[in-house]
Amino acid sequence: MNILFATTEAVPFCKTGGLGDVCGALPIELEKLGDRPTVIMPAFRQALESGQPIESTGVRFQTPIGRKLVSGELLRSTLPGSGVPVYLIKQDEYFDRPELYWDGQSDYHDNCERFVFFARAVLEAIRALDLEVDVLHCHDWQAGLLPVYLKTLYADRTRYRSIASLFTVHNLAYQGSFWHWDMELTGIGWEYFTPQHLEFYGRLNFMKAALMFADVLTTVSPRYAMEIQSPPASCGLEGVLRHRSDQLFGVLNGADYGAWNPATDPHIAANYDADNFLHGKGVCKAALQREMGLPERSGIPLIASVGRLAEQKGFDLIADVLPRWAEQIDVQWVLLGTGDQRYHELLARLQDEYPERVAVRLGFSNELAHRIEAGADLFLMPSRYEPCGLNQLYSLKYGAVPVVRETGGLADTITNCTDATLANGTANGFSFGDASPHALSDAIDRGCRAYQDEGVWNRLVQTGMRQDWSWARSAHRYDELYRLAVSQVREQPVMQ
Ligand code: ADP
Repeated sequence: MNILFATTEAVPFCKTGGLGDVCGALPIELEKLGDRPTVIMPAFRQALESGQPIESTGVRFQTPIGRKLVSGELLRSTLPGSGVPVYLIKQDEYFDRPELYWDGQSDYHDNCERFVFFARAVLEAIRALDLEVDVLHCHDWQAGLLPVYLKTLYADRTRYRSIASLFTVHNLAYQGSFWHWDMELTGIGWEYFTPQHLEFYGRLNFMKAALMFADVLTTVSPRYAMEIQSPPASCGLEGVLRHRSDQLFGVLNGADYGAWNPATDPHIAANYDADNFLHGKGVCKAALQREMGLPERSGIPLIASVGRLAEQKGFDLIADVLPRWAEQIDVQWVLLGTGDQRYHELLARLQDEYPERVAVRLGFSNELAHRIEAGADLFLMPSRYEPCGLNQLYSLKYGAVPVVRETGGLADTITNCTDATLANGTANGFSFGDASPHALSDAIDRGCRAYQDEGVWNRLVQTGMRQDWSWARSAHRYDELYRLAVSQVREQPVMQ
């Protein structure tokens, strides 16, 4: 099967979250299965400065955006360690900016135009590069117009008629919602500005558009696939998702153990594995304490979290429980994140108040994220919702026992530690239900008590480290769903 990934992120070119991890790893797994994947993405400044070898194809194209004709150029690279081609769409006015989606305060004002261009550029690239495509695998709202174009403006063209679309929801809360006049930018007729097509409460909504038009829908865990069919996780789209529930599948993301494996990780102070982790993890913990300016102490739990500082991730719950802990209980906290200004201020204040116990880094550092996984004893993810979550999978592999809220992919991957789950060997972390400081504090407390019991702790750590959450299983499932999408297109008439 020829699969074209249309995405805005793929490691090692650029990443703001899990989307980048998925689109850098899944194509390589598909290639191992015998598929022929290709990735196409914007040539964001971050991608051009990623240090990856990128060359020009010499292919240029033009596409209408509203009343303008906009030109672009196609560059070429490959996903490292594979033969997977990566095409990068160069259009500096849209993509040569400090951040991918926002200016640090709010979304870029022309995001609609930028991602209309992205969608049309992908379709132009298929023609200009003469790419064979069975399935166009579109990721999140930024690629949301592609399934629509295939069934409207491009439906009569032979080259596009047999292309099936599979749309993956990585996070339903980010929808790409724009005022209705932006329809003019799309070139799609106003007859599609209806609740059955692209309109959502008077606005143009890319996420809804994709949910209505794609042949097959997936999201990144079975639990999240269920959750998004009802409020609040549905973010208002429950009607659409229930309408399409026959075509909606939850496929759990995998961890890329090529990049996230303590036995081979070049970023950490000592390598270790499940059979022999005590010494290596100890060395990594001491190194992390030194790096973060915390006292070097081995006998107390080091609790960490890494993530986007957004409402979703529950950093406010952490900030809520932290002062009481920092005042009364002998543990250390290491937090790494970037995002909303209010969380920056909140976390910076906590570090100022408790410098002996709390260390905060406000920024994005992949290397430090690796060192935190290796040095931490407990890893917090008190997310309000979590489509899949990758950090808990990395934490399991690094022996940083996850403390998570039971939602989405966190619920699918973490088994709460109880007498029964310890006895049957399935316990791999601590989980809680309510999104409240009290429930989080209680789970951390359970974690810290387990840490003091060497036998229990080693069992928990080893169970997590030995589990296999790699991509291989999920790649098989995607392969089946690609075939389903193709079979649908070959049976279905063009949507009117
Ligand atoms: P999401 O996609 O919602 O942000 P995931 O858990 O699926 O959450 O994936 C987050 C990915 O981004 C992980 O690889 C995590 O290590 C990384 N990440 C998030 N914030 C940072 C940061 N500030 N520095 C380094 N890596 C980060």
